[in-house]
Amino acid sequence: MMAIDNLGLYVHIPYCVRKCNYCDFCSLPNGGSNVPDEYVSALCTEIISYQKEKRRCLDTVYFGGGTPSLLSVSQMQKILGCIRETFDISSLAEITFEANPGTINGDKAYGFKALGFNRVSLGLQSIHENEMKKLGRIHNFEEFLSAFNLLRIAGFDNINVDLMYGIPYQTKESFESTLRTVVDLSPEHISSYGLILEEGTPLFLQKDTLQFPTQDDECDMYDLCREIIGQSGYEHYEISNYAKSGKRSRHNMLYWNLAEYIGVGAAAHSYLDVHRYYNTDIVTEYINSMLDGDFSRAESEVDLPFEYVMLKLRLSDGFLLSEYEALFGKSFLSGREEIVDRLGKEGLLEIENGALRLTERGFYLSNSILVEFL
Ligand code: SF4
Repeated sequence: MMAIDNLGLYVHIPYCVRKCNYCDFCSLPNGGSNVPDEYVSALCTEIISYQKEKRRCLDTVYFGGGTPSLLSVSQMQKILGCIRETFDISSLAEITFEANPGTINGDKAYGFKALGFNRVSLGLQSIHENEMKKLGRIHNFEEFLSAFNLLRIAGFDNINVDLMYGIPYQTKESFESTLRTVVDLSPEHISSYGLILEEGTPLFLQKDTLQFPTQDDECDMYDLCREIIGQSGYEHYEISNYAKSGKRSRHNMLYWNLAEYIGVGAAAHSYLDVHRYYNTDIVTEYINSMLDGDFSRAESEVDLPFEYVMLKLRLSDGFLLSEYEALFGKSFLSGREEIVDRLGKEGLLEIENGALRLTERGFYLSNSILVEFL
């Protein structure tokens, strides 16, 4: 039903040196040792299981985590070898790995480049040591800088830097200096997300004893991203993402465009044939079932019209009303004229050249706007 020519592959590596204070992702602290070989074997078994299906061509491959840069070059080579045995990888494919400063050395930077990676996503969050400490990150700005320079020297010309606002004790001034320092480095892509306090994390448990930026401060920080990154040659193409020309994250664009992807590894999701499939997020359980040849996954149907709108409205392009009608056989506006008219008058959305999209102001309030469309 949707454009399914492009297929993405997501590979989850659920190990980190240490668990960050705000993290509720599927990731186990391993003190910085190598990723266990049995996890790599389980991943390879799962990847190869897709050989049973029609051979498809991958447009993007994304190693996320966790900390994929904890994999050794030979482990990465083994996993990529299985991917190449199972799928065709487009000669123009975007092949990304996420990395944490402090887990990248010369061998890995050159080694991963030689294996075919052409994009890196580097977690920085903040240049300020007190803010990094509150988050429980393992690195400081100097370590980030040496990882960034090392990756450049190794030939990576497509680097994303992750930033965060809403950190305890962060101020508008400190965030502004983080933004200015990062745009001066001129990475091809910048992601800037607001901190979410997830229940059960150490940061959540300390929330009453820490001083967080106010809601208004966070709103100003979001505006600072738009001003400073947006005025430095980056396109604000998704609520939290900015890219230089031609450098949008193609893998994430697959998600936002509801294209199909396969996720392998503990906690990975897949989206195929209008269904989502979920791997267990218990790492030992994942390893045991893969090595036993048990590839069963939980699955759920997708509410396509709702997901289409929810995901497309994250993008500055929005969606074409004619495409919605062609896909779902009904007009999006029908029955929603009043809401759309009001949100338009409030300056939160606009319809231009047949496309409905959120304005820059609407982006910040996207969650409450989407509720209106439910
Ligand atoms: S590096 Fe990322 S995945 Fe790992 S613990 Fe920190 S936030 Fe979680």
